[in-house]
Amino acid sequence: MIKVLVSGACGRMGQAVVKAVMEDSELQLVGAVDIVAGADAGELVGMGKSGVIVADDLAKAIDETKPEVMVDFTRPDVVYGNAVLAVKKGVSPVIGTTGLSDEAKAELEALAKEHNTPVFIAPNFAIGAVLMMLMAKQAAKYMPEVEIIELHHDKKLDAPSGTALQTAAMISEVRAKHQQGNPEETEKVAGARGANVDGMHIHSVRLPGYVAHQEVIFGGLGQTLTIRHDSLNRESFMPGVCLACKKVRGLSGLVVGLDKVMD
Ligand code: NAP
Repeated sequence: MIKVLVSGACGRMGQAVVKAVMEDSELQLVGAVDIVAGADAGELVGMGKSGVIVADDLAKAIDETKPEVMVDFTRPDVVYGNAVLAVKKGVSPVIGTTGLSDEAKAELEALAKEHNTPVFIAPNFAIGAVLMMLMAKQAAKYMPEVEIIELHHDKKLDAPSGTALQTAAMISEVRAKHQQGNPEETEKVAGARGANVDGMHIHSVRLPGYVAHQEVIFGGLGQTLTIRHDSLNRESFMPGVCLACKKVRGLSGLVVGLDKVMD
């Protein structure tokens, strides 16, 4: 049994993780942390008493519950601090919170090596989304004219999504430098063409009703190809989160992307 602490346990994703960990026979929920403390984590997610009370002090919770893995679904502005604290205490972070900068990731990698405590980050824990990214990378070799549309619920704090950025990074590995669109185009309204990442345009839609969705659209002579993934609910991320909890201690340094731990 791998001992797991969930950081952000009362949030939308955190609650789904608490439930998934409690349901997984190879994982043991030992700790839960959030801003609002005091509730029984199991009762919070409708699973009955778990004996794990949500705490509001991560350092103290780690010392008391001695987890091997900390799953973090909090906020872009707190995830780095949580991960540093965990690594320094020998606890492996499994990070779902998006919005970590490249500098923060580089610092986490150095810290992971220094403390011999592996760190895992997945911009998207849904297996289908990972396949979408791998297929997009494959398609971009043959159809390099591409734009990305990502659609999320309107409570999301960061834009573009971590998945869109990861998709662009993977496409950039195989696509020659290229500015998408007419070289002479001008925006009549700032932002009309979306974010520009390595010449690829990313468009972020935020509306109630959505969970997490993405389309990668390729254009060619007389044809388009659309690769689309839809997460219809937060359960879609849970097999990936549980898999990462089981694999992270066997990794080394910082590993980014669920595809790295899929057999
Ligand atoms: P959410 O509902 O706002 O949950 C975040 C939770 O963390 C809230 O309960 C929040 O409390 C709590 N929190 C804030 N600061 C904290 C701290 N210092 N320590 C512990 N807990 C703290 O957000 P969400 O929808 O679950 O999303 C969380 C993150 O996961 C976002 O970055 C989102 O983009 C990402 N995400 C990733 C994936 C993936 O597959 N990688 C999938 C979905 C979402 P308050 O509400 O009181 O601030």
